[in-house]
Amino acid sequence: MIGEADRKWLRDLLADRVVFDEPMARHTSLRIGGPADALALPATVDQLIRLVCRARQKGLPLTVLGGGTNVLVTDKGIRGITVGLGGIATPVRLAADNRGGVLVSAHAGVETRRICATALKKGLAGMNFALGIPGTLGGAIRMNAGTAAGQMAGVLTAVTVLTPGGQVKRYPRWMLEAGYRRLGLPVKEPFVILEAEIRLTPANRDELYSEARRLMRRRTASQPAWRPSAGCFFRNPAPDKPAGMLIDQAGLKGAAVGDAQVSTRHANFIFNAGQATAGQVLELADRIRETVRQRFGIILEPEVKIIGET
Ligand SMILES: Cc1cc2nc3c(=O)[nH]c(=O)nc-3n(C[C@H](O)[C@H](O)[C@H](O)COP(=O)(O)OP(=O)(O)OC[C@H]3O[C@@H](n4cnc5c(N)ncnc54)[C@H](O)[C@@H]3O)c2cc1C
Repeated sequence: MIGEADRKWLRDLLADRVVFDEPMARHTSLRIGGPADALALPATVDQLIRLVCRARQKGLPLTVLGGGTNVLVTDKGIRGITVGLGGIATPVRLAADNRGGVLVSAHAGVETRRICATALKKGLAGMNFALGIPGTLGGAIRMNAGTAAGQMAGVLTAVTVLTPGGQVKRYPRWMLEAGYRRLGLPVKEPFVILEAEIRLTPANRDELYSEARRLMRRRTASQPAWRPSAGCFFRNPAPDKPAGMLIDQAGLKGAAVGDAQVSTRHANFIFNAGQATAGQVLELADRIRETVRQRFGIILEPEVKIIGET
């Protein structure tokens, strides 16, 4: 819990851009999560820097939240300060590079779908793989979000990061270590991705739109996008062994603990059928892990980030 003195400096710094004891169920795509002690939405990068430095001086834990579409927040909620970047408004900038490509720079709080839409409108290839991935650019980079058609690391050329010490640093792509649903940065946690630069290439707009329609049709047919979820819950243990296939073959489609349910459309989606708690989701996830382990000898690891007090 944060005390009255901390509430005061947070209010002084952010005015109405900080709320206290805020239920995180309001800020996650699963619609689950207990209260954040303080949820801060700075309006400028300068405010964000001052917030991070002050939190560090005071020894308050800092949690960064993007669109909340790949997280499970525990029922006890998040201690310390949770910071979102959605309040910092900046335009998406485009500039030609000297190799016939276009560099797109955007603030990390921008929604990924805005980058995809800008690319399509301008006839730029490279971002169609991310169509339909919810959340922010910062979250997509952190998670190296992707599909069979591509991943963020494939288009990223640089990221600008706020270090825990309050320094702003720019890292070119070669300094970043791309893995399956993770991007390693040479900086200590908790850092905040502030901005990203990606490189796209001019292409035939009609072909881009037709590819976009095909990818979106495939997504709509395979995912229960209308259900509150955090996307795929578990990482695929191997490319030829997708977690969804293993969960399906283990007979777990439709399995439930309370209102936490395994989708019958895509077995790697756990969704909230109404009033699910994080505890129910975790119990269901444990049951899935144990059944898959017994059946196939494979241990599933969560892709979703579990954050908050346990
Ligand atoms: C219906 C649905 C479909 C999905 N489909 C896909 C898919 O096809 N492919 C895929 O890869 N994912 C998919 N996801 C998962 C999720 O949308 C992506 O991982 C997304 O990019 C996460 O972005 P976010 O802003 O919501 O991040 P959050 O969920 O808010 O955060 C995810 C992690 O990133 C960190 N983070 C967020 N922003 C920053 C920042 N600025 N600086 C530092 N750290 C940060 C958080 O601390 C957290 O650890 C899907 C989710 C849903 C609900």
